[in-house]
Amino acid sequence: MSPTKAELIAEALETGTLRGLPSGHFIGGQFVDAASGATMECFDPGTGAVFARFAAGDADDVDRAVGDAARALTGEWQRATPAERGRILGRTAELIRQHADRLAVAEALDSGKRLVEAEADVRSAARTFEYYAGAADKLEGISLPLGPDHVGMTIEEPVGVAVQIVPWNYPLSTAARGVAAALAAGCTTIAKPAEQTPFSTLLLAELAFAAGLPAGAFNVVTGTGRQAGAALVGHPGVNHITFTGSVPTGIDVMQQAARNVTRVALELGGKSPLAVLADCDIDTALNGVIEAIYENAGQICSAGSRLVLERSISENFIDRLVGRVGKLILGHGLRNPDVGPVISWSQLEKIERHVAAARAAGNAILAGGAVAHPSNSGSGWFFEPTIIAARAFDDPIVQEEIFGPVLTVQIVDDLDEAIAAANCTDYALVAGIYSRDLSKAYRFARAVDAGQVYINEFFAGGIQAPFGGNRKSGFGRAKGMEGLKSYCKLKTIVARI
Ligand code: ADP
Repeated sequence: MSPTKAELIAEALETGTLRGLPSGHFIGGQFVDAASGATMECFDPGTGAVFARFAAGDADDVDRAVGDAARALTGEWQRATPAERGRILGRTAELIRQHADRLAVAEALDSGKRLVEAEADVRSAARTFEYYAGAADKLEGISLPLGPDHVGMTIEEPVGVAVQIVPWNYPLSTAARGVAAALAAGCTTIAKPAEQTPFSTLLLAELAFAAGLPAGAFNVVTGTGRQAGAALVGHPGVNHITFTGSVPTGIDVMQQAARNVTRVALELGGKSPLAVLADCDIDTALNGVIEAIYENAGQICSAGSRLVLERSISENFIDRLVGRVGKLILGHGLRNPDVGPVISWSQLEKIERHVAAARAAGNAILAGGAVAHPSNSGSGWFFEPTIIAARAFDDPIVQEEIFGPVLTVQIVDDLDEAIAAANCTDYALVAGIYSRDLSKAYRFARAVDAGQVYINEFFAGGIQAPFGGNRKSGFGRAKGMEGLKSYCKLKTIVARI
């Protein structure tokens, strides 16, 4: 009998680790050690302690994975009908649900996120496989109106070997949305999870293989970005790269991909505005703001990290917000506090540097602002939920992505100023607005440059809703049918009759 959720949590909290976590890459349908034999450590952000080791991949492992993925592309996977591909994805969704507790506890231990959030990510991964299971046989082309002497059509073909470079903030759900879409389209895929969070991607590959995926169709190479990641994105056998991560690394990936003319989709950072207008439902907006910035300790590319607040309600709104934020409880993710740790010591330092610079520049710290040391958390990496009133719209605290539990407040006088404030950074990932006036909300949605706009519910949507950024936030769309098309190449066929 497999252990219950309570037993898994107790094991992780009492022993500091989980038994049976994989330690190798997943290549060709099996776990394999790194060719060099090298391994690296994985840390529990909630305690700062090492809890497992995993394979440190390099160019040799990448070569093997790309070779297996390329072979799988021409074998049984190519002969499978779209409906058969869909059935395997559907079975993967079932297996994710069957193994949800283990996946969620492993994800919470590895990433530091609160268990309730990890559980939601597991549900979302299952939904993603279910969605693309249904989409596999609905990838249609069009017929071309060329006149009586020709028949013309387009068909969508799989792009080939598709690489997923996965970040540490949403390891399982980001891997799932790329892998499921790529497989639905008929591609084979190689995922490179972040070195901070390798385990859920490895467990996902094992489940997909158990669901009937042919060997080599879904491979996982673990290791650092500099070694395993760079070798993958520069490999001439790779046909497409989906990268989710920071702007500097995204630029690097794009440059490496350019050398082989490999297609890329980049989902990069954000500094997303959340406008709260005077006519909104205040309680709903307060809940929305708190979730938008403190979920996953603010480590979300689409976090609502800039509150754009209408002046006439600003004093009362900020008072209530500061009161609520001061009561948030920090702790180990597996204990389900209000806010968990951040991913690493270096991330904690980075957040601290941003806040110190904001303080030194004369921005007012309204809540938090310091490293925290909750009880029961050893040397874990925690930062207090923080609110900073911005001195000016061009201050770095408004312009720069922090990727931590730090909310910046910008005060505006009306909708036009809210739109200007929303558009005042180089990023354009998401934007949100809370208002009872739907005309104002839609005018804001039209005028703001963002891949997606949320009205009266930040993070609204599901796997059906395409997701991606503009400008420095990247390009290309994941999720939905748009996400499926990322993994296709269009072929036009014309015949003279
Ligand atoms: P962070 O700086 O927060 O770790 P990154 O954007 O560097 O975020 O990392 C996102 C993902 O990109 C991780 O899987 C990481 O290993 C990978 N990565 C980092 N550098 C490179 C690179 N040069 N080439 C390919 N992947 C990389």
